Amino acid sequence: MRCPFCTATETKVVDSREVVNTFEVRRRRECEVCHKRFTTYERIEQNPLAVIKKDGRREEFRPEKLNHAISMACHKRPVSTEIINKICVEIEAALRNEEKSEVPSSRVGEMVMEKLRNTDKVAYIRFASIYREFADVKDFRQAIKEVSRREKNTGINVKPPVSAEGNSAENKAECMPVRSAVPETVPEKNR
Ligand SMILES: [Zn+2]
Repeated sequence: MRCPFCTATETKVVDSREVVNTFEVRRRRECEVCHKRFTTYERIEQNPLAVIKKDGRREEFRPEKLNHAISMACHKRPVSTEIINKICVEIEAALRNEEKSEVPSSRVGEMVMEKLRNTDKVAYIRFASIYREFADVKDFRQAIKEVSRREKNTGINVKPPVSAEGNSAENKAECMPVRSAVPETVPEKNR
């Protein structure tokens, strides 16, 4: 690796660490001639993977887009950035393991829902409401019932995200992600 300051080719790695929950390694290097330091990132060269959208269009699989969609669903929920990143790399690994050059967007959507269902019920409902394009309150109630049923089956005592009773239309509005909002980092205490 050539030094960006003096162009010397003699540089040494002084620190090397995996970037948490990505497929990258970050290296801190020092030039042996001018002794300045700089950072490099090593990434895996992946085979191209295309996502086929509902309308038949193809677009390149972009992990950051997946990450953004999940972050939106988890907005203001106690789901840390680390967990979101972890979900993303796990989904990408699962997709690449299928060793296909293209994957329907529905497959990716199902994978996200599966992960969110086990992570945060509200995030799951939010994602599902957009992904499945809930037509009415009935669809919404159904999704909540599914979540509650699974909880009963697994024996995990988690409070349902919103009551299926009462004003569901209002609940639905509350559950919708704020699309324009910038995802926030979850406060330390919630991690
Ligand atoms: Zn140098």
